[in-house]
Amino acid sequence: MTDLLVRGGIVVTTDGAARADIAVEGGRITAVEPDLGGLAASAREAVDATGLLVLPGVVDVHTHVRVATDERPDRFFDDSVAAAFGGTTTFLAFNNPGTGSSEAAARSLLTGLREWRAATGADAAVDVAPSLVITASHEDPVAEIPAVVEAGVPTLKAFMVYDFGLDDAAILRALEAAGRAGGMLQVHCENRAILEALTARHLAAGEIEPRFHASSRPPYVEAEATGRAIALARAARAPLYVVHLSSADALAEVRRARAEGLPVFAETCPVYLTLAEDRYLGDPEEAARYLISPPLRPADHPGALWAGLAGGDLSIVATDHVPDRVGVEKQSWRESFDRVSNGAPGIETLLPIVYDEGVATGRITLPRMVDLLSTTPARLFGFTTKGALAVGLDADIVLFDPAARRTIRGADLHHSSDYTPFEGREVHGAVRSTLVRGSFVVRDGLFVGRRGFGRFVERAIQQLA
Ligand code: MN
Ligand code: MN
Repeated sequence: MTDLLVRGGIVVTTDGAARADIAVEGGRITAVEPDLGGLAASAREAVDATGLLVLPGVVDVHTHVRVATDERPDRFFDDSVAAAFGGTTTFLAFNNPGTGSSEAAARSLLTGLREWRAATGADAAVDVAPSLVITASHEDPVAEIPAVVEAGVPTLKAFMVYDFGLDDAAILRALEAAGRAGGMLQVHCENRAILEALTARHLAAGEIEPRFHASSRPPYVEAEATGRAIALARAARAPLYVVHLSSADALAEVRRARAEGLPVFAETCPVYLTLAEDRYLGDPEEAARYLISPPLRPADHPGALWAGLAGGDLSIVATDHVPDRVGVEKQSWRESFDRVSNGAPGIETLLPIVYDEGVATGRITLPRMVDLLSTTPARLFGFTTKGALAVGLDADIVLFDPAARRTIRGADLHHSSDYTPFEGREVHGAVRSTLVRGSFVVRDGLFVGRRGFGRFVERAIQQLA
């Protein structure tokens, strides 16, 4: 018995886009054919997708969605609803300090995993998974990594910066342990010594406003660390995933490694693809909205990143969603730029921005967009039932209207932040409906999902080539 037919839309895969029907049964795709009209009479429901693009649900592999607290019991749920409105059917969240994890989780990866599952198990509207952050306070992360991978969490993350970051020796050990266990380490690549020195120089000169953020950590600070992480991964004989690559300089390091055939993968984010460092020059309260790390770059960098996406040196676009609020967390800009919590919200705007700035402008093709947002994220991060519209996979489906025009407004978004870095941007295209495992979560622009419907996804990396 077919539960659902999606008929008449343009189905997009990494190979192309063509008119096709999709049949769904038990939450999985059972057929993708040019015409499944023969099933129409017996199907429980048929949805007319004429004029719409039918896309696999987006897999956002970089978010800092925060678990619920007594003060903010809805924040995880709210961000998961926002994901659905943006066409994201699965997201991965880090449990780094500040996202709601405990002291005990700061000492043990496995405790952190149990805690995250308990804290999120009844909250998600879409499917979710954690990526565990290894910090300097973990007692023996290398010993725990095999059990973590075995428990369905094959990706872990380390920072080269911040108080909780790891030194090179610890990153080398983590790369080795993750690789040996069939997993992959994600690394935030910036040179801590240089950015601390440049920040101190600004502060000593009384240069405390947000406009000094970009020059406190310029592109060479990222490029040096990216090259160093690649060297560590080479020595470890392990794969490396570079998070939030922001500059042409760091991209050159990744390109060189990939040309040698090393298993080095990098993501970039919508903010780096669409905004430049002139955002820091205006009113400081406005500029504080863009205090992210790495910072926004000179205006010629976004074009280089688009070329990297089109050419294959960059593998994924993810959001680095941080639901900080201008009215709360960002207010510390008044003390100095380096005191501000770094990050910007983006969980609801990934597909809309990449479609508008990438596909509608002709910088990337529609199949390449699906590859960057769904298929490759699912493959590299071990979501074996997600990432494509193919028989046997979860029926995570987005109905997208390419003819729509809309203006992005923070007030219209559903996340737990209070702003968007894309305020006022007019975009081509709009998400109409989002299905997770065959069930509508957003339907014709309305939330029809359920808190707790989203599942924890056990992952297993199968191939990285
Ligand atoms: Mn980071
Ligand atoms: Mn991040």
